[in-house]
Amino acid sequence: MDAREKVNAKQRRHYAKHNERMKIRNRVRRGRFLEKNPNYFRDASRKNRQLNNHKILKKLRDKYAALSDDEKKALREKAKTYYLKDKAGAFARVAKRRALKKGAEIGDQKAIREWVKKQKQRRSVRCFWCNKSTPTRAMHIDHITALKNGGRHALENLCVSCAPCNSKKGACKLSDWNQRIEQPILLIV
Ligand SMILES: [Zn+2]
Repeated sequence: MDAREKVNAKQRRHYAKHNERMKIRNRVRRGRFLEKNPNYFRDASRKNRQLNNHKILKKLRDKYAALSDDEKKALREKAKTYYLKDKAGAFARVAKRRALKKGAEIGDQKAIREWVKKQKQRRSVRCFWCNKSTPTRAMHIDHITALKNGGRHALENLCVSCAPCNSKKGACKLSDWNQRIEQPILLIV
């Protein structure tokens, strides 16, 4: 046994002997560290995700592929239940992910979720652009200033729209779009 191994063995023995004390000490240290760096773990995991996104996705895909049919089915059911429990939340998460992909600035996610939830509880909504009534299941959530044009993914830049308006508008500039709709919206932007 060389010197290094001896030290390691000693440390291990010490750790095993004072296991509980060490756990408490580590917890205290971790708490102190987090007080100074409150976003450390969040940032580290985001960075890891960015750097290794490819690898992480492949691992997840491989893991899914290795499951039996029954297990796959159970997983799908679980995802469905999760979705049905909080449709507005799922909707808001997808929208946020899309916005992030387009490099948009993200506003208060909780406020967006609450707003989407309120809209989804209605039977029908009015399109912000053409003012026509649309059944809620067919409504779109639209960015007033398109993300492509630098619009934020935030409550003040969101509106409810009918599908035709949303697809017609696309990434159209507001000044151009205003001339194409029947009743131009007065915009303070
Ligand atoms: Zn419309």
